[in-house]
Amino acid sequence: MIRRLLRRMFGIEEPGLRRIPRSEHGLAREAISPAARKVCEVLAAHGHAAHVVGGAVRDLLLGLAPKDFDVATDARPERVKALFRRAYIVGRRFRLVHVVIGGETVEVSTFRAFDPETVERDEHGRVLRDNVYGTQEEDARRRDFTVNALFYDPATETVLDWHEGLADLRKRRLRIIGDPETRYREDPVRMLRAVRLAGKLGFTIDPQTRTPIRRFAALVERVPPARLFDEMLKLLLSGHASACLRQLRDEGLHRGLLPLLDVILDQPLGERFVTLALAQTDERVRSGRPVSPAFLFAALLWHQVLAAWRAHERAGERPVPALAAAIGQVLQAQCEKLAIQRRYTTLMREIWAMQPRFEQRSGQRPFRLLAAPHFRMGYDFLALRAASGEVPAELEAWWRTFQAADDDTRRAMRVAEAAPAPRRRRRRRRKAAVATAPTP
Ligand code: ATP
Ligand code: MG
Repeated sequence: MIRRLLRRMFGIEEPGLRRIPRSEHGLAREAISPAARKVCEVLAAHGHAAHVVGGAVRDLLLGLAPKDFDVATDARPERVKALFRRAYIVGRRFRLVHVVIGGETVEVSTFRAFDPETVERDEHGRVLRDNVYGTQEEDARRRDFTVNALFYDPATETVLDWHEGLADLRKRRLRIIGDPETRYREDPVRMLRAVRLAGKLGFTIDPQTRTPIRRFAALVERVPPARLFDEMLKLLLSGHASACLRQLRDEGLHRGLLPLLDVILDQPLGERFVTLALAQTDERVRSGRPVSPAFLFAALLWHQVLAAWRAHERAGERPVPALAAAIGQVLQAQCEKLAIQRRYTTLMREIWAMQPRFEQRSGQRPFRLLAAPHFRMGYDFLALRAASGEVPAELEAWWRTFQAADDDTRRAMRVAEAAPAPRRRRRRRRKAAVATAPTP
């Protein structure tokens, strides 16, 4: 502490810190979003250190568009809040400030230290709380990868590099800061982040960062399921889901996330189905079209549902109740590992439960299905099943035509009822059945 104070007083550079001028890195302040620049400016004007940090600096240096801008400062949250008109303190684990300027939100975090002595851990070394304020040097050290620990000062257009992150960035290499084993024990999510960032950036994971992952993969199961879900969602929506999932599997990390993925990918149909779903998602993300997480999770778990469905049928249950039971079973098992949020599971159930209804193309049934709230998603799912060879291509083609046709053509298209068994259901019941579950 005293050494640091002396160094600061005499303007001596801290060991390890490199100040890299614009002439070397090329990043101009105009590349920083107006709100993030403003935040840095205001904080600096009040005597604080304030720099853009993390993913935004990394992405800009790579010529990518950052998702958002984070600022790190030596000002405490209350102080930051007081300096801006629209600023909100958020966060349970660490307190951050969201500063809103012109419709943009900048996340401002106070430099944090990581003190291995005082930090609270679980019995496997996982850090539970570490909300201790610190210096910029300490803040750089508690970050995950060297390329994520670069600070950018818009005022001087310098990059502050404590861990040779710029060199790693140029080598397109992901390297964890500090001792890999300790860092994975502290927070096993870092292993998933390594895979996701390597996939997203097209980086290789440095051997020393990569090797311990296999050994520590099981620690992922200790992470609260809700946090795993957030990280998994980021991975799946990164535009590189196929590559990331393949790497998750190679590193043995999927076991704590999607336990039966191995089994599914070992069956030709299952592998084809998942591969197609991921490829489609990546293509949508990359072309800027919206992606439904529910659809994606429904696809990832479908062959698990199918297997459970068949098992229930073999045990003598009728198809529709058997499917309902299978769905309940798969979702429950899954959510113990990776808690998929309820707003998604509701939609996943709907997509799955709709599938047997596509087989029914006589009478009013295709019309009712067409009018169902999430018909389009259900149909897209059917198309994926057809493309993977699980259902006849003819079935998907029929529905494609049926959707596009006018009413007369639709009526003519209907398939005659195989055995015209008298349907004596009362109207009321039928309506209720349509609203909740597929008609048998
Ligand atoms: P993305 O492009 O997905 O936003 P990111 O690196 O910005 O990638 P964030 O989750 O936004 O990821 O995190 C912002 C920064 O916080 C990171 O760049 C890193 O410095 C730090 N960070 C995030 N998660 C961790 C972690 N688990 N351990 C240590 N540092 C972390
Ligand atoms: Mg980010």
